[in-house]
Amino acid sequence: MRECDYLIIGAGIGGASAGYRLAENASVIVVEREERPGYHTTGRSVAVYTEAYGPHVIRALAIAGGEFFTAPPKGFTDKPLCHPHGLMFVARADQRAILEAALAEVQELSPSIAMISLDEAIRRVPVLRRDYLDSVFLDPNTMALDVDAIHQGYLRGLKARGGEVVCDAEVLGFDRKAGLWKVETKAGVFAAPVVINAAGAWADVVAGMIGAREIGLVPKRRTVIAFAPPAGMKTDDWPVVFDTQEEFYFKADAGTILGSPADETPVPPQDSQPEELDIAITVDRLEKATTMAVGRIIRSWAGLRSFVADGVPVVGFDPDIEGYFWCAGQGGYGIETSAGLSRAAAALARGEDLPQDIADLGVTPADLGPQRLWS
Ligand SMILES: Cc1cc2nc3c(=O)[nH]c(=O)nc-3n(C[C@H](O)[C@H](O)[C@H](O)COP(=O)(O)OP(=O)(O)OC[C@H]3O[C@@H](n4cnc5c(N)ncnc54)[C@H](O)[C@@H]3O)c2cc1C
Repeated sequence: MRECDYLIIGAGIGGASAGYRLAENASVIVVEREERPGYHTTGRSVAVYTEAYGPHVIRALAIAGGEFFTAPPKGFTDKPLCHPHGLMFVARADQRAILEAALAEVQELSPSIAMISLDEAIRRVPVLRRDYLDSVFLDPNTMALDVDAIHQGYLRGLKARGGEVVCDAEVLGFDRKAGLWKVETKAGVFAAPVVINAAGAWADVVAGMIGAREIGLVPKRRTVIAFAPPAGMKTDDWPVVFDTQEEFYFKADAGTILGSPADETPVPPQDSQPEELDIAITVDRLEKATTMAVGRIIRSWAGLRSFVADGVPVVGFDPDIEGYFWCAGQGGYGIETSAGLSRAAAALARGEDLPQDIADLGVTPADLGPQRLWS
């Protein structure tokens, strides 16, 4: 039986980043069901960092971690974790009020996000149809992230600090005696006073095993296709284009265009696969908003974005079960918030206050803790 201070379940970006932080001054083991970390949602994102997306807590956590990506700690990575990209939220005439309301909200934390003219939007992304567009705002701070470099950096850093990642180690059951959890996995038994549930879409399944109340986590499938950009067009510097009501988005990525219908189909936790209908909807929406003809689809995939009711992650000790800590519900923001959220998670798991910069951005432990979902 192997012992540690914190046993983390799940080696996606949530578990890896929390483990990286906690390993600074404690012993940490991360157990992962799959043969490699990142097989599920973490390996299926579209790798965007933006200050213009999601509820206040999400935008605050992204901002609190932005500098980690632009200026990572020495030795964390040997390649850049991000590069500037920009992102435009676009609206049709019938969506203008929604776009304006969204802009007013995001400017609270990020005043550099502003409306741009249609001429400017079309200059930046020439395939946008002028007769489709009514209004556009630009987040100039958006970055494209190298998710693999970030995830591997956390895992490498965790190991360099003495932590361990054990794959092929599906958690099967829990038992607590004398202040210590004994956790049975397919790779043997582990013991720790604190277990951290970072099981992604399976967080409520793991909660059920431990006897905890569920947080009402809903995994939602999202589909992505990759296709060739229009012939002869330089797309590297296109900002990401997001429909203001999330009916579609597209992003130029390594010589291809990634497109999504921004679907949110609730499904049980699973190894998610794309559906033909969602691919057809993606093509239809992109062709209505742009002059791009989506020809051959080079590849397609789907992943699960897992949300609780208010769309904010659940990070904190469970009030009813001693030594049980939640780190779940990162939704569609788990990569961009990982640097900020992992600092918050580590502080709360150590029984400390939230880091001051995160508190200064208006985030409280109550915003993150599970109790808010049960009151
Ligand atoms: C299409 C798509 C686009 C996205 N785009 C972005 C984006 O642009 N920017 C952004 O920030 N985020 C994005 N996201 C969201 C982001 O990818 C997720 O928020 C993040 O990856 C969630 O990480 P996680 O560690 O919670 O989950 P996961 O990566 O799924 O990790 C959880 C791990 O727990 C393991 N596990 C489960 N049960 C057990 C068990 N019993 N025992 C042991 N291990 C177990 C699983 O095998 C899994 O590896 C996107 C997601 C999708 C699907």
